[in-house]
Amino acid sequence: MFDHPSFDAHEGAHAFHDAESGLKCIIAVHSTALGPAAGGCRMWNYASGDAMLTDALRLSQGMSFKNAMADLPLGGGKSVIWGDPRQDKSEALFRAFGRAVESLNGSYYTAEDVGIDTSDMALVRKETRYVAGLDEGAAASGDPSPVTAMGVYLGIKEVAKRLYGSDDLSDRIIAVQGVGSVGGHVCEHLARDGAKLVISDIDEEALKAVSAVTGATIVPPDDIYDVDADIFSPCALGAVINEKTLGRLRVKGVAGAANNQLIVPEMGEFLRRQGILYAPDYVINGGGIINVAAEISGNYSREWVDGKLNRLIETLGQVLDEALSTDQPANAVADRIARTRIAEAKTGAPK
Ligand code: NAD
Repeated sequence: MFDHPSFDAHEGAHAFHDAESGLKCIIAVHSTALGPAAGGCRMWNYASGDAMLTDALRLSQGMSFKNAMADLPLGGGKSVIWGDPRQDKSEALFRAFGRAVESLNGSYYTAEDVGIDTSDMALVRKETRYVAGLDEGAAASGDPSPVTAMGVYLGIKEVAKRLYGSDDLSDRIIAVQGVGSVGGHVCEHLARDGAKLVISDIDEEALKAVSAVTGATIVPPDDIYDVDADIFSPCALGAVINEKTLGRLRVKGVAGAANNQLIVPEMGEFLRRQGILYAPDYVINGGGIINVAAEISGNYSREWVDGKLNRLIETLGQVLDEALSTDQPANAVADRIARTRIAEAKTGAPK
């Protein structure tokens, strides 16, 4: 682990095996400087143990940065279970995972991620209380997508303000890739403001439903990169800003919900050189983790969530302003601020 390219000074990477249930999992804890590490659990059929460790380390560092930028009393961690979510799930597996989480004594909180749903987490909950993202219970926060979508919508307005001197979105053209849980809500907010929408998805029904409510124009999935628009909002997949799509973009800003939009961090600099203002994904999509943090606090409050969301959007504005005034890629500015917040928490320096 110490020689791993994604080590990045992780506090710990804990590997667990349970012979009875077949559980193989890694819980990576990047930092607990700001609070207990929080980040979801992913179930994936990895090609190797090394691929599993790489994913755990990268995702856990990403959660540290996301939680720091959302000003949450949480550090960063992530867990990965090795297996095929379509055939390898069992109650024994999730209970064994729950015992693994419990053994860390609250230094890591888990929740759903790719391949895991709320019913799996309900099984994990039988063995540990360090679980969020539940459907039931006193502080259950339910689906975080509406909060994420509100953050993305407000973030798009911040980008527009810097591009055009006004956050008025009427008649602005926004290309939205993916109209699922988050993208669908984002479209509704934008349409209410009079924006003209161009949307793509691989789900015809979802496209029809969103278009009926918002009047959006539908384009085939691959054509979304060529749309002549003001802002591109990726709300489906990661790695959509890559060497193939970069030259096709005809927008002035990129601001969407998808995680890991840049195939490599250097794409942030390439966007900047193309005159495209990028809202770093882990800042603009932090609404979901704010909602989960409210649940972890044990006392879910919508007012607290809204306050944190507004603060997050202010932070996004600061990132965009610094990127523009210093000619730096916005993702590099965000990384620096996140690292500083974590380092200051370690030394007890005031924020
Ligand atoms: P979702 O599964 O509900 O929606 C994703 C949509 O993208 C689906 O409608 C799917 O059909 C569509 N899609 C898949 N491939 C596509 C393609 N090639 N072109 C166009 N559309 C395609 O997921 P979601 O919860 O809305 O999340 C969207 C993104 O935002 C994901 O990257 C997720 O990791 C990220 N995110 C979500 C949250 C949240 O609160 N749900 C929080 C932070 C980040």
